[in-house]
Amino acid sequence: MAKVIMKGAEVAAAMKEKLVREVEDLKARGIEPTMDIVRVGAKPEDLAYERGARKRLEGIGIRLVVTELPEDIDQKHFEEEFSKVNDDPKINGIMLFRPLPKHLDEEPVDRMIDPGKDMDCMSPVNIAKVFSGDETGFAPCTPEGVMEMLNHYGIQLKGKRVTIVGRSMVVGKPLAMLMLKKHATITICHTRTADLAGTCRNAEIVVAAAGKAGMITADMVSEGAVVADVGINVGADGKMCGDVDYENVEPKASYISPVPGGCGSVTSSVLAKHVVIAAGRQNG
Ligand code: NDP
Repeated sequence: MAKVIMKGAEVAAAMKEKLVREVEDLKARGIEPTMDIVRVGAKPEDLAYERGARKRLEGIGIRLVVTELPEDIDQKHFEEEFSKVNDDPKINGIMLFRPLPKHLDEEPVDRMIDPGKDMDCMSPVNIAKVFSGDETGFAPCTPEGVMEMLNHYGIQLKGKRVTIVGRSMVVGKPLAMLMLKKHATITICHTRTADLAGTCRNAEIVVAAAGKAGMITADMVSEGAVVADVGINVGADGKMCGDVDYENVEPKASYISPVPGGCGSVTSSVLAKHVVIAAGRQNG
């Protein structure tokens, strides 16, 4: 059996304790940390994320406003509405739900967003900071959540062999940069990786972020490895599951995160952390 099951709720609770105190300090100075979700249309997955974010942010004392824009909004009006949110001094942080509907181009708002309000790393300025190891940038919430989780459970990265399965700009690549900053030795795998199983077996820490249900099987994980599962999938039984074949991998792992209840539950706590940092910085 794994030594430790890494639970997102435990990480979120520890983060909450600290964040609540920081929000109280801000409020004592007359600052109400406020975040704006910009949502185009009403996709069920966006609404689900929004509900989770509202619960987490409001539970910490952060005000959440939602700018809901019609699904068929044109590019010009979309940019105008985004610009209004961006320029509003009462808004400390912004998160745009992506992907946008196909007729909209995200790039102009990626360039437009104030990097200091960019809570989920849309801006090229924040991307560059993450890739150059400058910790003043806001990293994407999901990979930073993985870092929070490993840190919470005391898992050292210095000198460790890490294999990350997935090379997206949302998870895999930025996570590799965050781990590199902590002196891990990283291998990033993808669909053209020649020996995925061997590369995973060689790792002391495996992070699965591919979006393929159960693809990390027990034979791909070495005895005592740390396994963090970022994947969110719907399994053959219709239930939510990760990328790791949890039942069979768990007995081999030293630390493992389940799905649901693992990495995904930390993402909105990182979002809250970013809003608190942004509100503090914007008010000196
Ligand atoms: P993408 O689809 O953008 O990227 C998936 C990556 O995994 C790609 O680099 C792809 O390789 C690689 N990959 C896919 N299948 C395989 C395979 N069989 N073998 C090796 N590599 C493979 O997904 P995201 O990065 O956006 O998300 C990854 C997972 O994380 C998803 O399940 C998603 O739902 C979840 N997620 C969870 C979040 C949260 O917890 N809050 C937030 C964001 C994502 P290639 O580049 O070659 O195509």
